[in-house]
Amino acid sequence: MIVTFWPIWTVDIVGSILMIIFSFLCLKIVRSLRRRDPSNVIWTYLLRVCFGLAGFAVSRSAGHILKQILLLSGHGSTWDVIRPFSGAVNSFMFVLVASVTLFFERIWKIYRQVSTDKQALQAAHEELMFLNQNLEELVRERSEALALSEKKYRRIFEVSRDMILVVNKEGLIVDLNPARCQMLGFDGAAGSPQGRDLRSFFCREEEWRGLQNTLDNAGFVLNAEVDLCRLDGTRMRSLLSGSVDDQPSEKERTIHLLVKDIEQRRLMQEQMAQADRLASIGQLSSGIAHEINNPLSIILGYSQLLLRQASPETERHQDLKTIEKHVRHCKSIVEDLLSFARRSEPKKETVNLNQAIDDVLSFIHRNSDNDKIEIRKEYDPQIPPLFLDEKKIKQVLINLIMNARHAVGKTGVIRLSTAFAPSTREVTINVSDDGYGIEAKNLSRIFNPFFTTKPTGEGTGLGLSVSYGIIKKHGGDILVESKPGEGSVFTVVLPVASEHPEISP
Ligand code: ADP
Repeated sequence: MIVTFWPIWTVDIVGSILMIIFSFLCLKIVRSLRRRDPSNVIWTYLLRVCFGLAGFAVSRSAGHILKQILLLSGHGSTWDVIRPFSGAVNSFMFVLVASVTLFFERIWKIYRQVSTDKQALQAAHEELMFLNQNLEELVRERSEALALSEKKYRRIFEVSRDMILVVNKEGLIVDLNPARCQMLGFDGAAGSPQGRDLRSFFCREEEWRGLQNTLDNAGFVLNAEVDLCRLDGTRMRSLLSGSVDDQPSEKERTIHLLVKDIEQRRLMQEQMAQADRLASIGQLSSGIAHEINNPLSIILGYSQLLLRQASPETERHQDLKTIEKHVRHCKSIVEDLLSFARRSEPKKETVNLNQAIDDVLSFIHRNSDNDKIEIRKEYDPQIPPLFLDEKKIKQVLINLIMNARHAVGKTGVIRLSTAFAPSTREVTINVSDDGYGIEAKNLSRIFNPFFTTKPTGEGTGLGLSVSYGIIKKHGGDILVESKPGEGSVFTVVLPVASEHPEISP
């Protein structure tokens, strides 16, 4: 329609202008597409095609518009000159566009390949993300389980009543349960055994070497009994078990040890052995004492009979007196022996303990020479009346006080104190002195019958063993602490029998 009614030059000019406009519109659209996705090879390819088309449109349309202007202005000859050049430019531009389109198939293949790779990459990425999330979950679960188990074993390590030690190859303590540090005498203020040489806690070098040999040869040690020295120098009998924790490198090798304090067990064993020893000595003594007691009584009887017949001023009377004195002494020893051996049941009655001590003190005072021994009394007024064999308890007190007097010599201080512990329902009597004290090697022997360090005639060695028997018969205990030259403390512990109600003092 338009072509029919409009002159042909108008159609040519308008067509050429539209051609330029459309080709530039195309170029604009493709450029914006490429800007959005610069890596897309198709948009890059189309941009090239659009550039080519725009170039072709410009060169062709410019040629046609120039032709119409020259023809309309009567310059047909000029156009004849320009026409071959315009045609050549057109053809060149067309060939350019055509050559670009020739690569379409290649570009399309590349595009397909890139798309396929992209999808595969996307799928791989998603799979990796999934695995990653799962892995995180797995790691979290494993970490929680590990922390729980670590907490559980740490707790066992911390609450153990025995000492758990980790020792390195050089014998240094690298770890130990802190709660058991006090077993070795470390109470916080004194630091910790960590970092110290385990060997330094062994009282006997050969026990340390023995332990090392066993560990080197067998790789473990089971219930080895050793003496460990606490920080303050006291000994602790210990039971040691442990094994070598082999590591790939010899340097990282550690030894795990479990140390059990069996000091109490050892003391009990010693006490049992002591009780056994005392029992057998008791049996033997009782036999001998019975045999000697009767002849002694006869000798005493006859010597008293002869004494009555002899006149006091004569030498014979003096001799008989000496015989009587020594026979009495022998009889007192035999009686001590018999009371040690017999262990008769105590005849109990209600006793005021503080009063009983005062009675003993005034008895001793009456029967002793004037000396400068100071007696200090610290009685607990809350001591409940006790159900005891008063005669026997007084005998114990006489023994302890007489020993203390002997230890202090002519001048010194003897302390007598009593105390009542309502929580344990026990009464304690302390007899302490600042006398010559007891040597460590004798401490375990002083309760043995006939053990004495006193010169002949002054001691029989029966006082403490008899006292020990009496206190044990009352369900109590008798303990001693002493250092040579510093004095001694004897402690008698007596239980307050619950079936006998307390009477207010
Ligand atoms: P004895 O007094 O006849 O020797 P004991 O059985 O009473 O017998 O005492 C045994 C030993 O215990 C004494 O010889 C002495 O070595 C020691 N002993 C007892 N009490 C004391 C004390 N208070 N101070 C120092 N040593 C003591």
